[in-house]
Amino acid sequence: MAVPQNKVSKARRNWRRAHDSLTADNPNECSNCGELKRPHHVCPSCGHYNDRAVVAMADEVDLDDDAA
Ligand SMILES: [Zn+2]
Repeated sequence: MAVPQNKVSKARRNWRRAHDSLTADNPNECSNCGELKRPHHVCPSCGHYNDRAVVAMADEVDLDDDAA
């Protein structure tokens, strides 16, 4: 098993990790509902992508139609 030749000091470890932080995605506005959404992702609030409904949202599904 490979073993580190030298101890990495807390300072050197922290210097290495100084650039590890993640930055948030730049949000886009949904063209259908105006809600902020992640770019290249289906809108989580209305289920639209490129002005097209691709995911039926729970509040849009009418369960009474299929009951009979
Ligand atoms: Zn939307």
